[in-house]
Amino acid sequence: MSLVPQRPVSTVLESLRKQVKGLDRARQIFTNRDLNLAKIEALGFDMDYTLARYHQNALDEASVRLTLERLVSERAYPERLLGIEPKPDFAIRGLIIDTWKGRVLKLDAHRHVGKGYEGLKELSKDELKAYRDETIRLNDASRFALIDTLFALPEAYLYAAIIEELSKDRKLGREDFEKLYKDIRFCIDLAHRDGSIKTEIMADLEKFIHGRDVELAQTLHRYRSAGKKLFVLTNSFAVYSDHVMRHLLDGVLPEYPTWQSYFDVIITGAHKPSFFTDQAPFLITDTRGTVHGEEKQRFEKGVIYQGGNLQDFERLFGYGGERVVYVGDHIYGDIVRSKKSSAWRTMMIVEELEDELAKAEALSQDIQWIDSLDAEISRLNERLIFEQHLLFRLEASQEEEREDARKDISLKRDQLKRQRRILLDELEELELALDREFNPFWGLIFRQNNEATLFGAQVEDYACIYSSRVTNLLNYSPMHYFRAPRQLMPHERY
Ligand code: IMP
Ligand code: MG
Repeated sequence: MSLVPQRPVSTVLESLRKQVKGLDRARQIFTNRDLNLAKIEALGFDMDYTLARYHQNALDEASVRLTLERLVSERAYPERLLGIEPKPDFAIRGLIIDTWKGRVLKLDAHRHVGKGYEGLKELSKDELKAYRDETIRLNDASRFALIDTLFALPEAYLYAAIIEELSKDRKLGREDFEKLYKDIRFCIDLAHRDGSIKTEIMADLEKFIHGRDVELAQTLHRYRSAGKKLFVLTNSFAVYSDHVMRHLLDGVLPEYPTWQSYFDVIITGAHKPSFFTDQAPFLITDTRGTVHGEEKQRFEKGVIYQGGNLQDFERLFGYGGERVVYVGDHIYGDIVRSKKSSAWRTMMIVEELEDELAKAEALSQDIQWIDSLDAEISRLNERLIFEQHLLFRLEASQEEEREDARKDISLKRDQLKRQRRILLDELEELELALDREFNPFWGLIFRQNNEATLFGAQVEDYACIYSSRVTNLLNYSPMHYFRAPRQLMPHERY
């Protein structure tokens, strides 16, 4: 007999509990720094790759083709380059281009080069080691270029593929490598600016952008209903933004007749990251892109603005500082710059998390095995240090049997070193096989062997919270307190 009063069990709830086994990791929001949504008054959203999710293969194909066409027509590269086929998995976010050496590199959090390609050939261990003596100065823009948005992935691929192709004719040198990077940058930038990429996208939105997702409308609605102000802050201009946002939101929920009605303020052509540092005025524009004057008093709902700057934004909007969360996908333009120039809190969208977490789950046994090998190697290291310490103490002692003891220690050390070698070889082989399961060229986007990648470290350093999609916010209350896990330093772990 139970003393607890029995309540009738809701069968609906019971069956729901059975179906919902906890939030899928791929759809969770992860916390680097505590963030209390109850204290947040306004949420801002970047558009491209944040509200709008692109079909990467289609966009890659168009970007590669339109850039190659411009390299041939504007920069006199050989016509045969037009035959280069896109290879969307060649590049991942966080890669670095070494424009002096003609290489694409993957760095870890300490700026060590973990993998690299020259042309489409992977760098050997010796070539990688040669980077050990160099400090990779990432802010040296004359040498290194960062691939930090999904729009830029084709740049890394084209750089490698064109070097591969042109080296068939002659040996290329630093001048060629530097020029090629500048030319690719110029031509892909041109394809964005002359409207050719956007014209293709607008002509077939279904092909390039994931279709309407009722969860997006529901997410925005949920946060609006909780009293949060919502805004869009995008670098795309009004005409393009209108096409994309209509595709995503118009006609989804009856309460919102147009996409504009979801937002309190809409800023297009924002020119991030300069938006956060410069003083451009807010222009009033419309869905045709015609400019009607400048806004100096206060933002009006339903109006589309263009340009602007952080200071005036906070004044005209009436919300700012740490009461704002900005959600974006670009580590530099959206996250680092806003973090450094404002007190805005940040949520970074890393859509690659979904795939990476799904694969990690499927391979969890292999990953556990790798972790246990790693732990065993650490234990062997500690035992070796202990033997070393014994040897040191022995040298200082006056014991008569010193020689025999020294031999014993030496044997022990050799044995431990052999064991360690075997485990290290096994670990290297397994890590390589695991990497190939994630991306055949680069492995994991967040991990390089047992270190975080440069990209992973940047996400950790700059984003307060991060997640694979905006709509993952729907699974959390607008009052949710995101708590960062307790971080332990190596000396605090036992
Ligand atoms: P956001 O992510 O919504 O701020 O907007 C990104 C905008 O930047 C899109 O309109 C892209 O077409 C544009 N974009 C991306 N890469 C380049 C480039 O290399 N040059 C010019 N525009 C770019
Ligand atoms: Mg974006």
